[in-house]
Amino acid sequence: MEKLKILGSSLTSPIDNTQRKEVRLRGRVSEDFVVTARCRIMKVGSRVAMSAADLPGDLPGTFHWSTHSSKIKLENSSGNQIFVGALDTPGTDRDSETITVTRTAHDGSKKSKTVSITVAKVTFSASANQMYGFDDYDTPYEDADNHLSVMSTGHTFVAVHIEGGADSSDFEFNTANPKICTATPPPATTKFDLRIDAGEHVKASTTLSATVRCLSKEVFATLSIHVYEEFVAKVVIAKFSDFGRPGTALRWPDIDYAAHGVEANKYLKDAVARLEMENLNGQNRVTHIDFKGAAGDALVYDMGNDGGPMVKVFDKLLESFAETHYRVIVVKKIDFAYFLGNTALAGSTTVTIAGSTFIAGKTVEIGDGVTKESVLVKFVDGNIGILATPLKFTHQPGTIIRYPAQGIAGSGLMFVQEEHAEKDSLKWVVVHEVVHRALDLRDIVDETNMMHYVNAFKDYRLRYCPRTLKRSQGTQNQWDSVPRE
Ligand SMILES: [Zn+2]
Repeated sequence: MEKLKILGSSLTSPIDNTQRKEVRLRGRVSEDFVVTARCRIMKVGSRVAMSAADLPGDLPGTFHWSTHSSKIKLENSSGNQIFVGALDTPGTDRDSETITVTRTAHDGSKKSKTVSITVAKVTFSASANQMYGFDDYDTPYEDADNHLSVMSTGHTFVAVHIEGGADSSDFEFNTANPKICTATPPPATTKFDLRIDAGEHVKASTTLSATVRCLSKEVFATLSIHVYEEFVAKVVIAKFSDFGRPGTALRWPDIDYAAHGVEANKYLKDAVARLEMENLNGQNRVTHIDFKGAAGDALVYDMGNDGGPMVKVFDKLLESFAETHYRVIVVKKIDFAYFLGNTALAGSTTVTIAGSTFIAGKTVEIGDGVTKESVLVKFVDGNIGILATPLKFTHQPGTIIRYPAQGIAGSGLMFVQEEHAEKDSLKWVVVHEVVHRALDLRDIVDETNMMHYVNAFKDYRLRYCPRTLKRSQGTQNQWDSVPRE
């Protein structure tokens, strides 16, 4: 039978017409048989179907498929359709993987074609030029859980790395909701910063995808992007001692807490937040205050009485900042204290404090001098504390009960003591206390985080990836927890 001559163009897809080597010229007649694939750029670990077809009018032939590539594997080797699986490693170059398709015609004659494949990988990671945060969920090799933050109407960058021979011109970088943010198409390159521009939102999120520009529209990488209105808190820091009592003198009178705000903001920006910190004294000097009622050299903060009389004095001194600023008071040492309301007898396992509430779960120190003792407060019922062990001594009403705390944030003022902290961590204790109050962030367990529950910080991050709470069950997503109007 005489073979029919094909006059028209190939019946395959336009992609095929431009990408198959033998049909690079649009409209040129296909030779021998036709191979189609929805994309010749494969994502590592993905799977695509490929088809081979006889030319119209030919008697059916049989097809055999093979490859020598170590980056792909063929799930079957014969038939009109096969599945190709890309393995986990990107190829060495563009079109570096090849598949040979051999058609055996009705008369036994064989013809072969070669399809070249690019096995590529796209990775989003933190850019050195990012303006806000990037959270990889502590899984640097997994892209689906990455999160980027950006300020409302602001911009940031994310690093993109394309491996395997493909480049940025092979992909579209689109967000699911362009009103939330958009990505600026990058030039044809393999390693670059992708610029992200945010729309105006208090709090919104969308997903950025790197989608290959061929029929498969396969998504090679995704990134969650969170747009937040910037949270700004004003803070005034006041350093106090009683110049008449040398024991109250600050250990580090020269720390410039306001200047440390610049350092803190490098980390706070991850959560799109910022502190505007100023020192009460423009020359960053310590301010004198009469520590009347102080027990020894410690300032007494009466926990059962809103801080007590000294707190009222500080409140008055910093009154002009009350409406606009978080007010932080730094002193050398504070006794966070309750006072006994009734006599507590030796052998007893209950104490009644003056005031309405008491806090369980801590070991407190009762009394001074030779009758001073430490006891664990197991439970509380109003102002009555149930102790884990009986008292060794009898204590009179008015006896001080020192409660272990680094600082306290109440009464519109925040108190931080130098005690128990070294110079560098003290700067972060101040930030930590302000962040508790201003950003609604809680004590968590993660020493690389500024909200770690003790001042043994190894880093000062704020995270999208939920952190385990210290003082209750559950977790906190820090970026999302910041209160924004
Ligand atoms: Zn804390």
